[in-house]
Amino acid sequence: MPPASQTSMIAIFTDLDGTLIDFDNYSSELARPYVHRLIKLGYLVIFCSSKTFAEQRVLQEEIDIEMPCIVENGSAIIAPPGFWNPEFVDFDVVDGWQRIVLGKPAAEIRQRLRRVECKFGESLHGFSSMMTEDIASVTGLDIGSARRAQNREYSETLSAKLPQDVWESLDSAFEYEGLKCLPGGRFHTVIDSQSDKGAAIRKFGELWKAQSSEPLISFGLGDSENDQELLENVDWPHLVKRPNGSWAGLSGRRIERVNGVGPKGWVKVAEQLLSKAKPEATV
Ligand SMILES: [Mg+2]
Repeated sequence: MPPASQTSMIAIFTDLDGTLIDFDNYSSELARPYVHRLIKLGYLVIFCSSKTFAEQRVLQEEIDIEMPCIVENGSAIIAPPGFWNPEFVDFDVVDGWQRIVLGKPAAEIRQRLRRVECKFGESLHGFSSMMTEDIASVTGLDIGSARRAQNREYSETLSAKLPQDVWESLDSAFEYEGLKCLPGGRFHTVIDSQSDKGAAIRKFGELWKAQSSEPLISFGLGDSENDQELLENVDWPHLVKRPNGSWAGLSGRRIERVNGVGPKGWVKVAEQLLSKAKPEATV
């Protein structure tokens, strides 16, 4: 594990649910002080999850940080004002934040999803077609959080509970529509077939290279199958344990399996990084 260096930038790409935040109560309390210390030392802590920008921003505000983030499973990269240099990177600006869109808009995703549902013969219970109260009930989120989870810009969350072989049988129908359906910790998510967390991380790396001579060293943390591409596209991939104490069955020789459930594992990786870093006072 390399130390933080003034000649390279270290970016920590992290999943949220079940990784940085607790799977059951969504709390960021455990990881919060470590996120602060890492950022103070000059690291980038980049959320990379299926959550929307509104959801990720609330979490950033809760932790009191402003950082680039990868939203809706790699569908867009959104960075705080001034992060990207317009001379080298193309972006549009939404509420002051710099947005780089990589996926299809949600309206198009939903239209294509309806055709998949027609073939399947029943609804897959997309969040956008549900009452916000029902989303709150199935997720355990409060109404405000459920609304933010519902308002997706580039993807759709499906709350249908189906056996895995049935989900797999739908893969070709999604593929035909230019979509893919990803299993998450609780729900499935449908996105543009070209988008994934790994593609967004690669894009981030390309853009970074375009505007900075500082090499980017990347760390990754995830907990589920949905993090396969995230972990494949970082230099130092880490898999934390799931709430049942096991590791998700991901492939990849280089993946370091961290002996800690969710945020407890996250903190262990942060402690390792901080122990290699320069003392804060000298930064
Ligand atoms: Mg997760």
